[in-house]
Formats: sequence, C-alpha cells, structure tokens
Amino acid sequence: TTARIPRGRQFFANPGPTNIPDSILKAVSAVSIDFNDPAFLTVYDDVVAGLKRILKTQQDVFLYTGSGHAAWEAALVNLFSPGDTLLIIETGHFSESWGKMAKDFGLEVRTLSADWRRGADFAALRAMLAEDKTHTIKAVCAVQNETATGMELSIAETRAAMDAAAHPALLLVDTISSLGSLDFRMDEWGVDAAVGGSQKGLMLPTGMSFTGVSAKAMATHKLSKLPKSYLNWTNMLTRRHKSFIGTVPTSLFYGMRESIRLLEEEGLDAVFARHARLAEAVRRCVRHWSGNNGPSLFCESPDRFSNSVTAVLMPEGHDAEAVRRVALQAFNVSLGGGLNRLGGQVFRIGHLGDLNEPMILGTLATVEASLRVAGVPHAPGGVQAAIEYLAEAARPA
Ligand code: PLP
Repeated sequence: TTARIPRGRQFFANPGPTNIPDSILKAVSAVSIDFNDPAFLTVYDDVVAGLKRILKTQQDVFLYTGSGHAAWEAALVNLFSPGDTLLIIETGHFSESWGKMAKDFGLEVRTLSADWRRGADFAALRAMLAEDKTHTIKAVCAVQNETATGMELSIAETRAAMDAAAHPALLLVDTISSLGSLDFRMDEWGVDAAVGGSQKGLMLPTGMSFTGVSAKAMATHKLSKLPKSYLNWTNMLTRRHKSFIGTVPTSLFYGMRESIRLLEEEGLDAVFARHARLAEAVRRCVRHWSGNNGPSLFCESPDRFSNSVTAVLMPEGHDAEAVRRVALQAFNVSLGGGLNRLGGQVFRIGHLGDLNEPMILGTLATVEASLRVAGVPHAPGGVQAAIEYLAEAARPA
C-alpha cells in the first residue's frame, strides 16, 4: 500500500513540546526589533512580571536561551561548589538525569530511592534529613511532575518533610512539565529555585527556560564556586535586562507575553481544573482498556496521578513502540514514548497545554484503534468511559 499523505492537523499528544495556540504562533511571528528598544523593554518587563505571577513568587527570575536542561544547569552552577552534597528524590528518568548532571559538575549526589510506580515516601525523606545532623546536604532536588512516569510529587509535602526535620537545605524544584498545568506556589512552598521551560504548559516553542530564585538562594549563590558565565545570575544583574545575557530571543518573549495572557484570561485555577478533567477522562479510558489483560495505568498511587501526562503500561510481550508507530503512520497522532528503562514498555499520552475535550477524545479513540491494529489485547470501549465522564463534567450545575 502507498503511504498516506496526512491531511488535517496532526493530533499532537506528546507531553512536550505541546500544541502551540494560533495566537501564540502569530505573536512569535513578530518582525525583528532591537532588544534594547523601549517598545521591547516593556514586553520584556511584562513577561518577567507575568512569569512571577505564574510561579507565584515575588522573588527574582532569570531567563536563558536554552531548553530545560539550561535551567537545570543554571540552578546547579549558581548555587553550589565542587563537592557539595545534594539529595535527589527519585521519581524516574528526569530525576536521574538531573542527578547525573549534578555528578558531571563534581557534586555528591544522594538519592532518596523510590519505586517509579508508587512514588517517594515522605517519612523516609524526613528521616534521611533528620539523620543529616551536620547539614551536609545542601539542597533537596524534586521533580514536581515526572514526565516519564506520569506522576506528581507533592512539593508541599516535600517542604513539610524538610521543615519537620528542621533541615536548612535549599529546595530546588523542576516545574518543567507542571508549570501552567498543575498548581505551583513558589513562595508559599518555600521553593528556593524553581526550574521551568517554554515548551510544555506555557505552550511556546522550545528554546527558553528560566529559574525563579529565592532571596535565600541568592545569598547561597554569592558563595558558590562552580564555574559559570552565560548562566551566571550575578552577571545577569549587571545587564540592562537584569535577568538575561546576550541577544534576547524577542520573538519568544512576544510569544510568552501571549501565553501568560491566555493563561490569565482563562484563570490559573480554571486551567488546572481543565487539566484535571482531561486527565481523569484519559485515566478512565485506560482503566477500561486494562480489562482483557490490556494496557494499564503505570502509576499505582492514585493520589499521585499526574494531570499533565499519563504513562500507559503495555501488557507483557507487547511493544509500546508498535502502538506509537501505528498511531503516527496510520492516523497521524503523535504519542510520547517510554524513556530510559521504560523504553518499549510504556507509551505516554500528553494532556497538557492547549487542549480540549474533542482533542482528548480524538486521541483516545485513535489509541484504541491503534491497539486494535497492533493486535494488543484490551477491553474495547475505553473511549465510552471517557465520553461519559466528560459529559457528566459538562452538565450544567
Ligand atoms: N525535566 C522534566 C520534568 C522534563 O519533562 C524535561 C523534558 O521533557 C526536562 C527536565 C528537560 O528539559 P528539556 O528537554 O527542555 O531540556
């Protein structure tokens, strides 16, 4: 058979990058402007102020041209000195990757081990910190939303465990696949460095990342000895924009101003509620499929379900990549794959960013069709469970 030429929009169900709304596409198409032009400085200032509202912080924000990895790196090199010890809470591929980066910089990494399907134990975190009587641990690193497993880590509970142990470590949080999709409260939760990126909940093209930085972290920063230059917060403060070095990607800033406008027009709480609703529809569908020894939810702790991405575990002997291939090649739906040791075992349905009910229902229907084509056992009719849930949720009160 000849390959089909795709028509219509590709359904993009990846957990990042995500769909870019038309108004953001329009905003990023702005012609070049001198980044020191007063007209642009207003845009720059609006974006920094808006990001602070999204992060729920009144503290400093620094921005980088670079994907999330740049902001991960910025948080490490600006805060630590060779040999410093960090405690990483294990969540999955992304906690491992951040920890590996810390090791690359000569930092000592301790890990609070956790089952990837159940999530970390906060009592164990508290115990580990209480045992560290000499306060060797300089920071706790937490990934709020583990994109690889579809699980959320409560930052409020992480902070509570640190407080209960009366431990002075900094709290570093990766919000890359949570900001703008799940609630995040930098100041209320006592987060010292919040790492975020452009291409997920903020619905922008990839290429910008940023860190919110607390006053406590800024004081630690002054003593840090790891080498740094482009990402150096002190260097940034001497520049005109106060939080950026080099040529400013003006188009991404125009886009981010529009992204913040969209999030605030809908209202952050409504944005979070929409993500929760769509995520629940996905979970009900997957739970239904899991009958007949079908694919099931990877996350085994219902209180930790991620509302921005769902990882679906394949039944034994079936390859997740085969399902993804059918979805893409036969139906033009792009799903996320399994990362790290989950390769081939899970596929991921991203449900964050610019997304509504018909997009989710279309994606779920297509995944069900793909399971059929790929010969994966499942209980047919998962989409019906999603339809019933979404219909109930849409009923006037
Ligand atoms: N942290 C999390 C939770 C992520 O989901 C990702 C990317 O998917 C990263 C970090 C790395 O960010 P980037 O790929 O933008 O460099």
